[in-house]
Amino acid sequence: MNQQLTTLIDKIDAILPQTQCKKCGFSACRPYAEAIAEGRADINQCPPGDSEGIRKLASLLGVHPKPLNTSHGIPRPPLVAKIDEHLCIGCTFCIRACPVDAIVGAAKQMHTVIASECTGCELCIAPCPMDCISLVPSNEKTDEASRKQAASHARSRYQFKLQRLEREKQASNKTILHKTTIPAEIIQTSGEDRKKAIVQAAIKRAMATRALAIDSNSSTKP
Ligand code: SF4
Ligand code: SF4
Ligand code: SF4
Repeated sequence: MNQQLTTLIDKIDAILPQTQCKKCGFSACRPYAEAIAEGRADINQCPPGDSEGIRKLASLLGVHPKPLNTSHGIPRPPLVAKIDEHLCIGCTFCIRACPVDAIVGAAKQMHTVIASECTGCELCIAPCPMDCISLVPSNEKTDEASRKQAASHARSRYQFKLQRLEREKQASNKTILHKTTIPAEIIQTSGEDRKKAIVQAAIKRAMATRALAIDSNSSTKP
């Protein structure tokens, strides 16, 4: 990617609200910014950004503003998720869905939303099997400076989550590959059994490496 394009993407991303809600049709704000910069998406697909966001994007790109495409959703006042802790069964589905790690809890334990970190993206609602997450009005400030600060904070938390997931994936990959190495006791043996074990371990290792490569390719696609 050339530097000019990267700079444009940075500027577009700086305008987007960083809710990371996917309503624009992309997996997060940054991929939407990339799509706008590359002419693959229109400027009116972000409901949280609303008309003010569209106006800023239009001004940046030197095009006319247009109405929000409401097929992507409608703007709404700031909301925050709340979990009915009496109903929560601790399945952790919501934690996995949250793009900014705003939910705390462990398997089979009650979960809680950290209201100050919640972007109100709604991504935790659908996966909850107990329907115990609702959105309630947020008391976050909506002036320009506060919104910018909140967006910057949400972007950092989202990037941190991506890095954490990547670290966990690398650690898991290492474990899988480690399990396919030839055990020392087999290396020390001799004869046909040793040969067979070495061939089997090599096949397992090749299959595991191939599976990881396929997994890695599919997870990097938009
Ligand atoms: S806030 Fe939601 S709709 Fe707007 S760009 Fe980010 S992910 Fe897309
Ligand atoms: S707690 Fe729910 S609504 Fe809040 S940021 Fe996380 S996924 Fe989005
Ligand atoms: S998805 Fe629902 S039931 Fe599962 S941990 Fe989250 S709040 Fe609890």
